[in-house]
Amino acid sequence: MDDMHGRLRAFVLVTCCLGTTAFGVVLGGSDLSQAREHLPLYAVLGVLVLLAELWPITVSRGDMRDEITVSSTFALALTLVGPLWLAMAVLAASLVAAELRSWHGAAKLGFNVAQHLVTLVSCQLVFCGLTGVEVLGAQPLLLPEQLPAALAAGFVFFTVNNCLAGAAAALAAGEPVLAHLRADLRFQVTTAGLLLTFAPVVAAAAAVTLWLVPLLLLPVVAIHRSAQLAADRQHEALHDPLTDLPNRSLFSMRVARACREGGRFAVLLVDLDHFKEINDTLGHNIGDELLGVLANRLTANLRPGDVVARLGGDEFAVLTADLDGPQAAMDVARRLLAALDEAFTVEDVRLDVQASLGIAMYPEHGDRMDLLLRRADIALYAAKVERGSWRMYDSTGDVHTPERLALAAELRDGLDRGELFLEYQPQLEVETERVVGFEALVRWQHPRHGRLMPDDFLPVVENTGLIGPLTLCVLDLALAAVARWRADGWDVTVAVNLSVRHLTDLGLPLRVSTLLDKHAVPPSALVLEVTETLIMNDPVRAVDVLALLRTLGVGLAVDDFGTGYSSLAYLRQLDIDELKIDKSFLENLGDDDNDGVIVRSTIELGHNLGLRIVAEGVEDDAALRLLRSWDCDVVQGYLFSRPLPSAAVLPWLAGQAAVGAVAPC
Ligand code: C2E
Ligand code: CA
Ligand code: CA
Repeated sequence: MDDMHGRLRAFVLVTCCLGTTAFGVVLGGSDLSQAREHLPLYAVLGVLVLLAELWPITVSRGDMRDEITVSSTFALALTLVGPLWLAMAVLAASLVAAELRSWHGAAKLGFNVAQHLVTLVSCQLVFCGLTGVEVLGAQPLLLPEQLPAALAAGFVFFTVNNCLAGAAAALAAGEPVLAHLRADLRFQVTTAGLLLTFAPVVAAAAAVTLWLVPLLLLPVVAIHRSAQLAADRQHEALHDPLTDLPNRSLFSMRVARACREGGRFAVLLVDLDHFKEINDTLGHNIGDELLGVLANRLTANLRPGDVVARLGGDEFAVLTADLDGPQAAMDVARRLLAALDEAFTVEDVRLDVQASLGIAMYPEHGDRMDLLLRRADIALYAAKVERGSWRMYDSTGDVHTPERLALAAELRDGLDRGELFLEYQPQLEVETERVVGFEALVRWQHPRHGRLMPDDFLPVVENTGLIGPLTLCVLDLALAAVARWRADGWDVTVAVNLSVRHLTDLGLPLRVSTLLDKHAVPPSALVLEVTETLIMNDPVRAVDVLALLRTLGVGLAVDDFGTGYSSLAYLRQLDIDELKIDKSFLENLGDDDNDGVIVRSTIELGHNLGLRIVAEGVEDDAALRLLRSWDCDVVQGYLFSRPLPSAAVLPWLAGQAAVGAVAPC
């Protein structure tokens, strides 16, 4: 890197020395009074050089815009018919004037001027060498026989100028010089190259009458217009008309180019959470204006090289390059969300906007444009579940298919609209075959997809903040149900499943206690089920939360026992009441000795630790018989009942009582 910049510095320095020396030598050796002789001609050409430099032609170049000027044409014409020192002075002054309008630094200006001075001297040397004209003299007429020499001078102008500028650009970008020149050649030949061939025409016309020279401006104006039109059309095709930000096509091209160039960068997708409501309630005008201000705020919070695009609707995208690592991308995400957190004022209306953001990193999450965009989208969906948050793409989560993530994002509304409901699966005491409780199992009546089972939506929700509201909803429904059953005279418990987040949430016990009070249910009628993997995730915190729940007096069960890594010895420290043997051990209980041994020894060990043992997934009599012979306490499974809709529980209990399988308390 340092080496590259060292070479660039040396190159700029040498060019500047050459340019200054050439100008000094030419100025020193010239008779400056020559300029007076054909002053009107030189004045007209000089003004044209200046105007052309100040009024560059915008051209489209791939997905970018570039600028070219016709000043070289007039400067070359002035070199052909005027004194060299004058052409050099005029071009240098014009370059300075143009640079003053958009300052890029003294080094750049110095190089630019020097490069053009060296170019002018080179082409004058070739022209004079071929025609015998005096190098430092002036010949106001371009003779017809000098035309080939003039064209050769144009060729030299093109070559020297492009080589010097191209080499500097390549060194600055750290690219091989020749490759850079080759890549740029087509564009330069078809723009600057073609315009240079115009120089002999200007010089020849000036020889006929000076009045012809301004007329030559007309084709230049035409070139300006058509180039501008083409550039405008291309701009329209690649930009969003509302915010003037790059659109999806241009953004994709930029990401694709960043992939080709390598380095480390991130794609961030930003999506507003409630834009539809704003549009619907306040009207599209305010919605549109909001998008405009929002686009500005996004841009203002990024670095100059970053690309912000509007992909459509309320979705924006950011390409941020030269990152040290994922941490830097996360910092950008936090900065952007914080910036959007501040209220917007649109037409005197104060608007609070919340956005979600998904990040995908190159090369970690994909080395192709389409892959990166898709993965950023998946991360965005994951973020949308919580709203107002950001997520980095997580490749470990197979559950994060876009469909599932979309579903998770809809869950919040589902909760608000009461689309979640519970089914209850009976649990029977083995010894008496009496119903002792029900496990509450959540379902979602989705407006489009119909009835969804927990496996369809819980895995994606599990790691988000939405699992909290979901569990509270389940607890509320389950406690209301058990209160009804108990009021009807059934001494039963209800079991509710907890998720990973709850065991690190020290506020959970208080919320459970509040809900127990609300439904006037004794704590002993509630069992909370946690999986052993859950406990092992953060054992220290889990012990605290479980201890707090314990002091409330609610029952605690370890669910899916046998599928994780915890040992019974470890579970002993947790002060739990119940072990639920996972249903996978029950499937082949009759035929598989191993499973039988595991179940049997678990029951024994569990009993030694004073735990009640529940076997889940009991589907046939054979399994029940074995479990009974091993002294299992409670069973649950399709053999007795599938999970029942809430309204079916009391009739089912009544039916069981009729056949003597259950006794009201
Ligand atoms: P789980 O806690 O192990 O629940 C038992 C699952 O086994 C239920 O599936 C139940 O319908 C099924 N099952 C019951 N008896 C039998 C049987 O004899 N044979 C077979 N093959 N399956 C049986 P479901 O309702 O689909 O629930 C799946 C999982 O979703 C549950 O596993 C639990 O981990 C989770 N879940 C359900 N409701 C909630 C909830 O409210 N909150 C949380 N956090 N998780 C829940
Ligand atoms: Ca369970
Ligand atoms: Ca289970």
